[in-house]
Amino acid sequence: MNQPLSRRKFVAATAAGPAVVASGQNTKLALLGGAPVRSGSFPAWPRIDALDEKEWMTVLRDRKWFRGNGAQVGRFETAYAKLTGAGHCLATMNGTSALIVSLAALGVGPGDEVIVPPYTFVATINSVLMRNAVPVFVDSDIETSQIDARKIEAAITPRTRAIMPVHLGGSVADMDAVLAVARKRNIPVIEDACQSHLAEWRGKRAGTLGATGCFSFQVSKNLSSGEGGAVLANDPEIIERCYAFHNNGRGRKVDSYNFSYQLNGANLRMTEFQATLLLCGMTRLQEQAKMREQNAQYLTSMLRQIPGIAPAKMYEGCTRNAYHLYMLRYDKAAFAGIPRATFLKALGAEGVPASSGYSPLNKEPFLKNVLNSRGFQAVYSRDYIKAWESNNHCPANDRLCEEAVWLTQNVLLASRGEMEQIAEAVRKVQKQAVDLRKA
Ligand SMILES: *Cc1c(COP(=O)(O)O)cnc(C)c1O
Repeated sequence: MNQPLSRRKFVAATAAGPAVVASGQNTKLALLGGAPVRSGSFPAWPRIDALDEKEWMTVLRDRKWFRGNGAQVGRFETAYAKLTGAGHCLATMNGTSALIVSLAALGVGPGDEVIVPPYTFVATINSVLMRNAVPVFVDSDIETSQIDARKIEAAITPRTRAIMPVHLGGSVADMDAVLAVARKRNIPVIEDACQSHLAEWRGKRAGTLGATGCFSFQVSKNLSSGEGGAVLANDPEIIERCYAFHNNGRGRKVDSYNFSYQLNGANLRMTEFQATLLLCGMTRLQEQAKMREQNAQYLTSMLRQIPGIAPAKMYEGCTRNAYHLYMLRYDKAAFAGIPRATFLKALGAEGVPASSGYSPLNKEPFLKNVLNSRGFQAVYSRDYIKAWESNNHCPANDRLCEEAVWLTQNVLLASRGEMEQIAEAVRKVQKQAVDLRKA
């Protein structure tokens, strides 16, 4: 999908346009040998332009590649805090380290529990396990694909040290409900905002509502430097603890030759190269976000009219969706009973690459192995682990994992006409679904 188009293919793809729609929709399914609704690829990601090349070479030639002697990481932190309206920003190596840094700064460690959704990228869970804490899964809200915030309070125990909602797909979890229970029970919130750059809850940016908000700039994300991450916090003390932890326990005040330590830590620092790509990417971020949002809204207006296709709903408080993923649910009953995998294959053949999304994380065998490992058993009793296992059920999430269909964010950077082709492809597959029963 990220292959640059050859000139000939590019001309073919752009020249094709709606004409291909007209011919494609009346032919046999592409999976069965007919003409596809569309050909050519969706916009490549990540994007670069002349600015990136110039700035990158400047950093390379300056030979200041480390935040200790360069200025780019600091510049990025200031710019990202300003963009989000956060009090402070700390750049990190990646999103996983942003989560680990946050958990460490808030004192989450062995014997603690962290409330997490089961529908997320595995790093959310791994970061908790890396602190030798236990992830406690709260079921998903199948309509939105977010954590079901109404079920958080029942999962709180005396061990709960943090609540970690994920703003999945660039949409926003029900932060009114999350923050209400967090305040009532006096438990800090760590927002996993790794997929929600520029998303908003009631006009405030995702990642600025909790004690910390964590971002990823891994190559697939809406703002990307290959690898990269950031922690946002309004409390300067929290960001200083984050800084020290990410800098081998050394606070901001020490110079290279002053070996004093505030706490334990690791080296999770961002490089000057990463920060440079992010500063360049930020010049395009707002425009791309607007385009994704407009295209997603247009696509939703078409897809929600198709029986058996349910685009993910947003909570009323989500005033801006970053659309890292375009998420919907597929009901095979409206498609002659053909399984999701066949639907995805047929859609792919029509020129629309879609995937089935996450599997149920709470059921992953590796979790049981970690909880029953020597280290964990030294902290958690056998009865405790048994009780965790018997409470670990997320039926709504199980169903979500069976029904979900995703498109990736770069698809939403295509033209309005291409959104029409996506809807056309879904309608075509539906119309001829019976023919796929044996495919
Ligand atoms: C990408 C992602 C992460 C991890 O970020 P990395 O930069 O890949 O370490 C964590 N949580 C979620 C929800 C993500 O999408």
